[in-house]
Amino acid sequence: MIQISQRNRSLAVSATLAMSQRSAELRAKGVDVINLSVGEPDFNTPEHIKQAARQAIDDNFSFYSPVPGYMSLRKAIADNLMSTNGVAYTPEQIVVSGGAKQALCNAILSIVNPGDEVVIPTPAWVSYVEMVKLAEGITVTVPATIEQDFKITPEQLRCAITPRTRLVILCSPSNPTGSVYTREELQGLVNVLKDCPHVTIISDEIYQHINFTGSYTSLGSFKELEGRVAVINGVSKAYAMTGWRIGFMAAPVELAKACNKLQGQYTSGASSIAQKAAEAAYTGPQDCVAEMCEAFRRRRDLIVSLAREIPGLKVNVPQGAFYLFPEVSSFFKKSYGDRVIRDAADLAMYLLEEAHVATVDGAAFCLPGYIRLSYATSDDNIRKAMARIAEALAKLK
Ligand code: PMP
Ligand code: GLU
Repeated sequence: MIQISQRNRSLAVSATLAMSQRSAELRAKGVDVINLSVGEPDFNTPEHIKQAARQAIDDNFSFYSPVPGYMSLRKAIADNLMSTNGVAYTPEQIVVSGGAKQALCNAILSIVNPGDEVVIPTPAWVSYVEMVKLAEGITVTVPATIEQDFKITPEQLRCAITPRTRLVILCSPSNPTGSVYTREELQGLVNVLKDCPHVTIISDEIYQHINFTGSYTSLGSFKELEGRVAVINGVSKAYAMTGWRIGFMAAPVELAKACNKLQGQYTSGASSIAQKAAEAAYTGPQDCVAEMCEAFRRRRDLIVSLAREIPGLKVNVPQGAFYLFPEVSSFFKKSYGDRVIRDAADLAMYLLEEAHVATVDGAAFCLPGYIRLSYATSDDNIRKAMARIAEALAKLK
């Protein structure tokens, strides 16, 4: 019998992907499931980006690319970061990877030594904690509930940092809450971090362009943290390109070199065709980004207004990304028939089986008592899903 390593066995399955898979299986059996579990734009990739990929095939972009990505793509990314964030990066500071997920994992594995502490404000995207586990680091969570709009305070951050802290991972707009830190709020966190020179910061900015506040501040733009911030971003969310698998890290050169070395040993450069498509995304017209963002904003308004009509659900007003993260503890200890709802995992399962709506248990994001709904779906689906959820929740007594 093959022995699976301890390292592998210690990892949890990605809850977002698992729930999505479960809903796909039910669908295959003919059940009309509405999938609000996985977070990905429901739009098709814009035509000019697809055209660039076709052209890349015809032009024989079929050979290994440089490990950190084509120079033309890294230049396009650097230009984009200058125009959107006002931050100057050289192409040497940019490493292109197989999605933001790989960029994050590269960075974590290149920064964290076994036993190092990694501070993660929660709720947080499912994969951070697991990636820290891979690096044999120790996760220190800093909880922020709905009462504080899921954003940590400078005091909370200060208390979480110790001499053993090696890394802080921040994400704004946030998955799973949609919360966006304002420039002033970020400045508060920066004021704490500037006094902790032993700490590196990863800023996951993958939802930067799905932001309803009208302004965005990249953590990479604070002079006080110069040389210590790794910005993660990519084309998955902004350009509706989740399947193309292109993300990147923009970071100090030493870290970029380390990630380049790591990636060179276990994946090589990302897909050549997808890189050429991503280049077209960054250099082409940007109206598609604004149009999709506007669609998400309308859907946000819709889902928030429908959720507020459901007794027992407590919701914030997300300012970005495409998730709603309602507090659901008022349903705990209630039942329907033989079924008792003990926690949010039970509730998510009940909603899947009773309402045929797939959601994700908040515990997967390190904050029990909540569920996550992705509203990256049509208005019709949102209306139908919320009506079904309302009906199923009303049955719980
Ligand atoms: N960070 C966050 C917060 C995400 O939600 C996602 C989406 N899964 C990623 C990173 C990874 O994105 P990608 O699809 O580019 O790997
Ligand atoms: N960002 C998405 C989500 O959170 C994609 C799934 C994943 O990679 O976890 O649902």
